[in-house]
This record gives sequence, structure tokens and C-alpha cells, in this order.
Amino acid sequence: MLKKYPKQVKIFEVGPRDGLQNEDRFVPTEKKIELINKLVDAGCEYVEVTAFVHPKWVPQMKDAKEVIAGMEKQAGVMYNALIPNFKGLERAIESGLKEVVTIMSSSESHNTKNLNMTVSQSLQEIERINQHAAKNNVRVRSYIGTAYGCPMEGHVPVEKTIQIAQALESFGSYEISLGDTTGMANPKQSYEIAVAVKESLKQASLAAHFHRADGIEFANILASLDAGITVFDSAAGGLGGCPYAPGATGNIATETLVAMFERMGIATGIDPEKIKACGDFAKSLVPIAE
Ligand code: MG
Repeated sequence: MLKKYPKQVKIFEVGPRDGLQNEDRFVPTEKKIELINKLVDAGCEYVEVTAFVHPKWVPQMKDAKEVIAGMEKQAGVMYNALIPNFKGLERAIESGLKEVVTIMSSSESHNTKNLNMTVSQSLQEIERINQHAAKNNVRVRSYIGTAYGCPMEGHVPVEKTIQIAQALESFGSYEISLGDTTGMANPKQSYEIAVAVKESLKQASLAAHFHRADGIEFANILASLDAGITVFDSAAGGLGGCPYAPGATGNIATETLVAMFERMGIATGIDPEKIKACGDFAKSLVPIAE
């Protein structure tokens, strides 16, 4: 049977946060703001602009408040920030954001290393976050990291990811994004995990967040698309990595993802030329971008 691809997909741009957070050299606040404004001008409607994390752990994001205060706020664009805990939510609400993104891993070891909480403690924290966010009309999106494998534990059973995804959905998270934290995913697994997790959810949408792996990341995108996923996370310039995952690679590059969908006749709402320029600009902000 002829395969039917969707007419459009949603791209969730994570460059200003996930792309930059791992950079040792501080990127000036005005450059971060310029990147965000350029991304929105290119057509990005979902932009993760910063993170409300402790500046001691992620000094690159210490200007979260200033970035949000300084960026243009275009109507119809969902600007959001990563929050590792309840405290982060309070700061995000104070900044006026209408969406936050929670993070946890399906691997117990990675979750403890990254967040200093067990998986079960993280779930309790995210339930509390969802309750408080709902009272403040703030939407919650949720990442599940190491969904395709963990640098410390290796294989992570899909059942664990399903359990977490279902819990996050029951708390009220409107979208679950499966993270390939260290670029370990393969297309077969990407397809199988997407089908299994998608089937387990009632209303939350499912997204995939792949990291660079010498091109395998685009095969993972196609496999996820085959499995019915239509929301993809990416970072302009392919920047990023995870500060607590050894060997973490950059995110899949938004400009190449947009170019691929453009060739397939699948709409992204993003201008291919402008996003290419955003990618070049993003790469110019960091000392070494391979
Ligand atoms: Mg990432």
C-alpha cells in the first residue's frame, strides 16, 4: 500500500536553550535574543528560549529572565522555557511565560545524575508542577530523556518509557517528547518506540527529539514519521548536547530538517533560506561547531 505522509509537521525549535546550554563560553544575552528573534522571523512558532536552572549548574542560562524580558513577543508564537523543578516553574511564571517544559529520564542512573532525583521523585515533582501550572494557565510539555538508550545503563525498556509517558499525560502534560539524549537511536527502534508509546497515550501528542549521529538522525526522523509522529524537536545550527551525558552530540539541525521536509512536500511553516541563515548565525555564536 502506498504510504501516506502528513501534509504538515510541527517543528519545536530548541536552539536557544538546548543548543547553547552546554557552551562553556558565555553567549551574550543580546546575541541569544537576536537568535530567538531571527528564528521567529524565519517562521518558528514553538521556541524553547531558555531554562530556569540553577546558575551554578548551568551558568549559560543565568540570564533567563533578561532573555525573556528582551525578546520580541510575536502573537501566535509559543515561547517556552525548560524547568528542572518546581522552583523553575515559579521563576517561569514570574517571567510571564505561558508554557514550560519539564525534563526527566527513563533511565534511573541518568535521571539521578542529571536531576539529583529518582524517577519516582521526578514524577512527583512534575505532578506538582502540572497542578500549579494549570492554576496559572501555563501549559506543560514534558521530555523523557534516554528513551532510546542510556550512556550509563545501555538499553532502556520501552515499558519504562510508556509508564512515564502515561503518568505525565495523567498529570496534564499536553505533549511528550522522547529524547535521544546521546544520539544512540536507530531507525528500527525509533519506529517501534514511537508506535508503542503513541498507542499508550490517550490525548497527549508525541514528539521526537533526536541528536546528531552522522546522518542516522534523519533516518530516525523518517522512521518516526512512518510511525505517525508529526512533531520534531531540533536546534538551528545543530548545536547542543547534554552537560551530564558523556559523549553527547548536538541536536538535529533545524535547517536540514526543514530542507528535508521541503523536498518531501511536507509543510513546516518555516522559510528554508531564513532558517539556513539562523543556523549559520547560531554556529557563529559558539567557538567550535563541527
Ligand atoms: Mg537535545
